[in-house]
Amino acid sequence: MNYDAVVIGGSYAGLSAAMQIARGRRSVCVLDTGEPRNRFADASHGFFGQDGAAPEAMIVNARDQLAAYPTVRMIAHMACDATRVDGGFEVTLASGGALTGRKLVLAFGISDVLPAISGLSERWGDSVLHCPYCHGYEYRDGRLGVLWTAPLSAHQAALIADWGATTLYLNGNPHPEGDARTLLDRRGVSIEAASIQELRGKDRTLTSLLLDDGREAAIDALFLAPRSKLNSPIAERLGCALDDGPFGPMVRTDAAQLTSEPGVYAAGDIARAPHNASWASADGVTAGISLHQSLVFEPSMAGAAA
Ligand SMILES: Cc1cc2nc3c(=O)[nH]c(=O)nc-3n(C[C@H](O)[C@H](O)[C@H](O)COP(=O)(O)OP(=O)(O)OC[C@H]3O[C@@H](n4cnc5c(N)ncnc54)[C@H](O)[C@@H]3O)c2cc1C
Repeated sequence: MNYDAVVIGGSYAGLSAAMQIARGRRSVCVLDTGEPRNRFADASHGFFGQDGAAPEAMIVNARDQLAAYPTVRMIAHMACDATRVDGGFEVTLASGGALTGRKLVLAFGISDVLPAISGLSERWGDSVLHCPYCHGYEYRDGRLGVLWTAPLSAHQAALIADWGATTLYLNGNPHPEGDARTLLDRRGVSIEAASIQELRGKDRTLTSLLLDDGREAAIDALFLAPRSKLNSPIAERLGCALDDGPFGPMVRTDAAQLTSEPGVYAAGDIARAPHNASWASADGVTAGISLHQSLVFEPSMAGAAA
C-alpha cells in the first residue's frame, strides 16, 4: 500500500480528516480538484475564529498547515474511481495512474442544482443564498424572499422572517395549507403566488424580481433550498449505502463516520444534512480520528504503522 489513508476531497471535511491522520503519524494522501461548494461566496460566516474570512483563504491556510507534516502528500487531481483490493483500496486518477491506501475517507462534497430562472445562478452565493445562518445577518432588516422549491420552503420562510420582512415566492406552486399556513401567518410571512421570470439588479446584487404578470417585486436577497447531488459516483461504486436526505442523496455513516463499507469513512456535506463548514470540519475530525484508531486497534492492521 502507498498510504495508510487516501482522502478524496481536500476542503473543510477532507483536510480536517487528513490533519488528524497526519498528527497520528500515519501517511495520508489528499486528492482534490479545488472546487469547494462555497466558492461562489466572497466570505464565509460562522466558522470558529474565522468569521467573514474568504473561503479560498481558509482552505489555503488549512492546506499550508497540513503540508508541514512529513507524512502528508496532496495531489491536485480528480479521483475517478476506487475499488477494494487486497489490504485496502486502489484509487484511480483522472490524469492516469493509481495509488493505494489501507483506508479511505470520502469528502468530495455536493453540488447544488439551481432552478433555471434567468439571473439566479449568477447571484448564487451573493444575493441568492441557501442558509440564513451563513449569510442572513448581512441582509438583516432587508427585504427578503424565499423561493419555493419543496414543502420545507414554508418552514425556511418562517425561520428567515427572524432576519427581515419575508415573502414566500410560490413560483406557481400551490398555496401552503394547514399547519404550514398557520406558521407562515404567525411569523408574518407574505405569500406571492406569481411565477418569477427574472432576477434583476446590478452585477450580483438583487433589487427586484420580475413576475410573470409584469409586476416587479423589490427585494434584497432571495433564499432557497436547492436539490443537491454527490460530486462523485465513488461512494456508490464502492457499495456504500445511501439515504434520501432532505436535499438529495447522502452517504450513510455511523457515529464514527464509517460508511456501510468496512474501511471507508465519509465526512462533510456528502454524509449529513443540514450543512455548514463547521459541521463538515467536525465530521472530518471524527473520520480522521476513527480511521487512525482503526489502524491501531483492528486486528488485521496489527503492525501496519507507516
Ligand atoms: C453559496 C454557499 C455559501 C456558503 N456559505 C457558508 C458560510 O458562510 N459558512 C458555512 O459554515 N458554510 C457555508 N456554506 C456551506 C459550506 O460550503 C459546506 O458545508 C462545506 O463546503 C462542505 O465542506 P466539504 O468539505 O464537505 O465539501 P466541499 O467544501 O464542497 O469540498 C469538496 C472538495 O472535494 C473536491 N472534489 C470533488 N470531487 C472530487 C474528486 N472526484 N476527486 C478529488 N476531489 C474532488 C472538490 O473540488 C472540493 O474541493 C455555503 C455553501 C454555499 C453553497
